[in-house]
Parts: sequence; structure tokens; C-alpha cells
Amino acid sequence: MIQLPQQLVKIGAQARTKDEAIAQVAGLLAANGNVDPGYVEGMRARETQANTYLGNGIAIPHGTPESRHLIRQTGIAVVQLPGGVQWGDEDEPVHLVIGIAAASDEHLQILRRLTRVLGDEALVEKLWVTTDPADIQEALTGERPAASAPLGEARQPEQAQQLQTGSAAAAVRRETAPGELPFAAQVTLPNPQGMHARPATMLAGIVKKSGARVRLSKGEGKGADATKLMEMLSLGLTQGTLVTVSSDNEATLKAVTDAIRTGLGDDLSAPSAAAQTKPQRREPDWVPAQVGATVEGVPAADGLVVGYTRQHAPRALEVKDTPGGDPVAEAERLDTALKAAHTELLNLIDDVQARFGADKAAIFRAHQELLADEGTVQDAVARILDGHGAAWAYQQATGERVLQLQKLDDPTLAARAVDLSDVQRRVLRWLLGLGEDRVETGGPVILLAPDLTPSDTARLGPDSLLGFVTAQGGPTSHTAIIARGLGLPAVVAAGAGLLDIPDGTHAILDGAAGRLYLNPSAADVTGAQERQGVLAREREAARAARHEPGATSDGQRVEVAANINRAADAEGALDAGAEGVGLMRTEFLFLERDSVPTEDEQEQEYRAMAAAMEGRPLIIRTLDIGGDKEVPYLGLAREDNSFLGIRGIRLCFERPDLFLPQLRAVARVANDHPNVHLMFPMIATLEDFRRAQAMFDEVRRELDTPRIPLGVMIEVPSAALIADELAQEVDFFSVGTNDLTQYTLAMDRLHPQLARQTDAMHPAVLKLIKLTVDAAERHGKWVGVCGGAAGDDVGALVLAGLGVKELSVSTPQVATVKAALRRRSAEDLRRLAAEALAQPNAEAVRALVKG
Ligand code: PEP
Ligand code: MG
Repeated sequence: MIQLPQQLVKIGAQARTKDEAIAQVAGLLAANGNVDPGYVEGMRARETQANTYLGNGIAIPHGTPESRHLIRQTGIAVVQLPGGVQWGDEDEPVHLVIGIAAASDEHLQILRRLTRVLGDEALVEKLWVTTDPADIQEALTGERPAASAPLGEARQPEQAQQLQTGSAAAAVRRETAPGELPFAAQVTLPNPQGMHARPATMLAGIVKKSGARVRLSKGEGKGADATKLMEMLSLGLTQGTLVTVSSDNEATLKAVTDAIRTGLGDDLSAPSAAAQTKPQRREPDWVPAQVGATVEGVPAADGLVVGYTRQHAPRALEVKDTPGGDPVAEAERLDTALKAAHTELLNLIDDVQARFGADKAAIFRAHQELLADEGTVQDAVARILDGHGAAWAYQQATGERVLQLQKLDDPTLAARAVDLSDVQRRVLRWLLGLGEDRVETGGPVILLAPDLTPSDTARLGPDSLLGFVTAQGGPTSHTAIIARGLGLPAVVAAGAGLLDIPDGTHAILDGAAGRLYLNPSAADVTGAQERQGVLAREREAARAARHEPGATSDGQRVEVAANINRAADAEGALDAGAEGVGLMRTEFLFLERDSVPTEDEQEQEYRAMAAAMEGRPLIIRTLDIGGDKEVPYLGLAREDNSFLGIRGIRLCFERPDLFLPQLRAVARVANDHPNVHLMFPMIATLEDFRRAQAMFDEVRRELDTPRIPLGVMIEVPSAALIADELAQEVDFFSVGTNDLTQYTLAMDRLHPQLARQTDAMHPAVLKLIKLTVDAAERHGKWVGVCGGAAGDDVGALVLAGLGVKELSVSTPQVATVKAALRRRSAEDLRRLAAEALAQPNAEAVRALVKG
């Protein structure tokens, strides 16, 4: 919350001219140490460019962008002129002069409040003449000071003297260049991927918490403020760079250099970004004999496809500069757009995580950091205060930073320019009132584009694309990483000539070779198709047999169900061969909207899902909110360790207002659909299950509905360890390997550096699953798996070998999992599982299958 201490409010002042009024308000800011005395010139210059009169007798003078370096700390000051002063050509006199020194985005709050104040004429008129500064403080900050000093005291000479002393102390800390901060040290950046968004965010957090000033620089450059993400990224600090860290506080300097030295949370043993994500360019093992032309790019994702090309030019966003608008309203618009973009990203993160995994979702978490970058928002707001529209201001502020990033030598860091452009476009779409970007392909094509944003790519899928080639981009771009997750061949950095290829050109795309062959001869097309043949035949056989029951070659049943969240996806899942729904994540009902769905709305959705299953089992999981699944409108408290906090069933116990309506909706549906099962997430103790069961029993009694199968998710190690006790009371278990792995290995499932190690095939995780299966068997209960490992080509086999009876996977995996099971006998899988349990690590387990 922005502060407006009493010494920054001057009551009962007089000014003969606007210039005098500005001098007074600038004087208050200077006396309080918010600005250098020279800032008044910036304020005057600003008035010559545009009028800062807002209406209702209020003006908001502020400095030009050129004078921003004179701001030491964000602040506002108010000069009340009961007698008024003429402001430019305005007819009305100004009674409240609100001087703004905008060095951070905190003053968005003030502008928001101002909108409300402006709309309340009675309040404004009171503020013109009040003799109590607390009235003004309250109106602008929303908080009334605890004990408001009597009128006049704020301007007692002694107090003014103290303020002067305070400002003198602040002036010592003033920074004009990095070297002027008194303490400095050098440290070599150890991060394999350089100073990218995540470590920079962590560093900014440390510095902000300390309250000290810290700059980073390399060589002679002007350096970056270590609280500003974009400034730090723009330095292009790569692994091994000698970084000069300077600060005004010796202890902070030490804390910062120590944090940098130890990697700021990055895995320092990880290979460099390029080595980690770049597919190796292989000698093409198939080359066409006679093609019209070959476009060479950089391999980004493997695969060979034959098809027709289609150009994709992103819709240009037309942003006009319309100076002279209402800065308050424009700042409000920007604020709303930033919030909307944040929510959109939250949904995208969930979606990408469900479809492609945590490491891909982390890409969009970094987008959230870029969106929240203080420096960028400050810059945009400063432009708004200069009279520009929100869209133009934001485009300029982000555009400058995109250019800076593009200029970096290091390709991995330069590739982040695409990420920032993506964020920019997301916010601009909101500001311009445009709908979601759509990549229209008009059918499966080889898409050619100048570049694709990570968001574009996340929206694409095999239905609309065979593969893609971009003129720009790099193999380490997030776009390329997502393409690999989609299983689509992709080539990047193919050069601008790509964009001249007419739509409908016949082509072969070889992702592994990084080549696009145009107008191939018929013989070459045949050759390429033959190469695709073997794999395609395998895929096709799997598809053809998708409706057969899931079973091993010797007929031991392993049900293969789908994880789907909406009734609308049921048809697709059944068509793909799903034998039921093993996990309906009901939190998606909550995540996809901006208010809590009512009991009736929930009932409708569960009923539609239950009916669509036509008697096949449906496992509805109660709300699993918390951890990574944030529902902004629930206003839940932030937690330091959200995965270890109030999530899943724990949140439901805390919030019966959410839990009970859901239980009632399920009970009603189950009354008519005996295929409905209910399952509780994040069960850690026997008491958790008993409490949830008791609440459901109470609801059933109230509604007079029948008993239904009740299960618990095994996703906390303690639940696996007490599986024997739990198995006596539950009807079934479903193992959530995503969480069970993170809690067993103590590796955050969203941690991009740990993602490769967070593998459910680790024998420690497999041992817990074995405990669970053995306990369930002793009590005649069954175990399913609905975490990601169930759909993994190794995981499905090992889990079935451990005795798991149901694998619930994403829809596209149903046919391939069934086919994999069919290729092995039950005995074979049991042996595999036994061997897996004896391996030292996950790689060794995977090697048992992959060789
Ligand atoms: C899991 O943890 O494996 C699981 C299926 O639940 P979610 O991914 O929704 O946390
Ligand atoms: Mg889970």
C-alpha cells in the first residue's frame, strides 16, 4: 500500500499561480526524500507538454520520463488550496494538487482510488476545504491514520527541520552510477543457462526484502537495478560472466554475492540450456533424390511428415497513440489488463501442465514473472501519466525491452525476446478488446510462420498441424520445447525466404534433419511415406484395437481409463478406447470461471459426465485446489510452501462452503448413476479419510441417497505407508504419481531444473506403490494409477507388473497403453516390476524396457 504520511499533505496552502503550486508540491516530495530538488523542473516541463488537470478541482503534476532518474522513492504529496489556483486554460480552479513521483507501480493504487474520489463530488468538495489532513490521507490511501495530528502541526518549523535532516541522509544513499554505491564485489555467474527469468526473480526477491540498493553490472556498462527483472535479463549475463555487484549495504552485498555464487536456485550441475534442450542434428538417414528446393533450418523437434504448406502471419495489433486521454482511466485499464493476463496465464499453466507436464508449464510461469516486472509496469505507467493511452504506453515499454533482449549475443537469453513479445501481445489483446489469438490452419498442414509464440504453440495440436517451420526462433526457444511435447516435427531459424513459399506447396518436413523439402518427386514422397510406414502401422494397429479391453497378451485385465475433466470430452475419450474415467479433476470447473460454480451447476456437469459414460466407471475426485492450482477469486491466503499447506482435502475441511455443495451434487448424481465413484485427494492420515467419509455420509443421510464406492488418492508417502489400515476402510485406491513422486523425492513437481529427476520410475516411488498394492490385495480392494506415470510407455508396464488394476491416462495415450500391455505377458510384467524395484535409480528402471 502506498504511504501518504502527514508531512506530505499540506493543508490550507495558498498559491498565486500554477507554477507556485507545483513548486510547493515538489518541495514536499523533496523534503521527504522522495525526489531530488531538481524534479520540480521535470514537473514544469511536463505541464508544457500536456495539462495534468483531472477534473473536479484536482490536478496531478508529475515529472517527464527524462526526470525519472531524480526519483528516489515512489511517493505522492498533496497541496490543498482552499482558495484555488488557475490551472492552464481550465475554467475551474484547482483545489487539490496531487504531486506524483512515480518510480514504481504502487501508485496505480492511488490512481484507482482517485477515480473513486473523483466520482464523489461531495467528498471532493470536502477535501478542498478540510482542516484535517487525515481526511485527505484516508481518501487517497483508504486508511485513516491512527491518530491524526491537529491541523497545522505538520508544518511546525521543528518538524520541517527534522524532515530536512532525513532527506540529507537519503541523499547520501543516492545513486547516479553503479560505482557510486559504496560497497562492491565481483562474482562469476555459475548458472548453466545464464541469468534467466527464474534466478533473476529470486535475486530481485532477496534484494527487495533487504531494503538495500543493489546493482549488477558487467564490464563498463551502466548495469541493472537488481530489483528489476527485465533490466537484469537485458544485461545478457551468461555462465562464467564476471559480474560486479554493488550495494549501499555491506551485509546485503554479502548475501547477494553468496546467493549468486550458489546458483539462485538453479541446478548448477545441469547441462547448459542448449545442450539440455537442443535435439542433436543427425545425418539424415533418408534424403530425397529429386526435390524442387530444400529449406535448411535448425532441428527443433523430430518427426517426418508429408503434406501441404500454409503460411501463418499473426494478426497485426494496431495500437494507436491517442494522447490527451484520462490518465486515471488509462492506468485503471492497464491494471485490469495485467490482471486478466495473469489469470489467463494461470489457466494456460494448468492446461499445459495437464497436457505436457510441469517443465513445459514452467515456461508460462516465467511469463507471469515477465508480466509482473516492476520496471516494465513503471515505465508503462509513466508514459500513461505523460498523457498516452494504456495500449500505446505498454507497447512502447515492452517493445524497448524486446529489442534489448534481441540484441543479446547469447542465443538462449535472446530467445526470451519471444517470450516477452508473447506477454506483450497477451496484455495488448486485453487492452484492445480483442479475443484470443487463434492460429487458423484450416486442416492439418505444415505451418510456416515468421515465428510462433509459446502460447500459439501450446494452443496447436495434431488436429490442426502436421508440423511447423519458423523463419526465426531457435531450438532453445520455448516454442520448440512445446513442439517436442506435442510430438510434432519442427524446424526453426529457416530464414526469411521461408515466408515466400506459396500456400499449398507440397512438401516433406524432416524435423530431425532440420529440413523442409519442397515439391518432392513422386518417388521421394513414396520413400518418405515408407519411412513413416513402420511407426504409423504400429500406431494404426494400436488404434484399430483400441476398443479391445485393456489386458496383457495372456489376457490378464488391466483397465485403461481416461483422465478427463469435462463431460464435453467424454465422447472423444470413449472413441479413443477409454474404458471409463479414472480421474475427473473437478477443480477445473472452478478454474475455468471467475466465480464458484453452484451446487446445481456442478450437479449438471457431473450428471452429464455420468450419463456419457453409459455405465462405465466414473471416478469423481473432490476439489483439489491449492498447491499449484490457484483459484484467484477464492481469495485464499498465499502460503510459503503451498504444496505442503492447505491443499486438496485439507482445503475442503477448511471450506465446507465449497466442499458440502460438491458432495451434495455428487450424491444426487450417484443416486441415479451407480457408475459414480468418489475419491478424495491429498489424504495423509486415516483421520483425513474418516472425516471426509463422515461428511459425505452426513450429506447422504440428509439427501437419502445410497452408499457409493469411496476411494482415496495415494499421493502422500504417509498414505502409502498406512495403506494396510486405509485398505480396511476404503473401496479403492488411486495412486497420484505426480504428487507421490514430488513428496517422496522432495522435489517440487513444478521445478524446471528438477523436472528431469522427478521421475515416478524411481524405485523409492515404486516401493510405495508396491506397499499400496499388497495392502489392497490383502483386503480385497483394487488399486489404480491416475498420475502421469500411468500413460508413460515404461510406467504403464511397470505399474501393471506391480499389480495395478487400472491405468487412467490422457485420451491420446489410451490406445498406445493398451497396445503396450498386449505385447507382454502378465508374468513378463511381474518380472519387470520385480527387477525395477531392485534398481538403483529411475534411469536404470527405464533402461530395463528401452534397453
Ligand atoms: C497426481 O498427483 O498424480 C494426480 C493425478 O493429481 P494432480 O496431478 O491433479 O495433482
Ligand atoms: Mg495430485
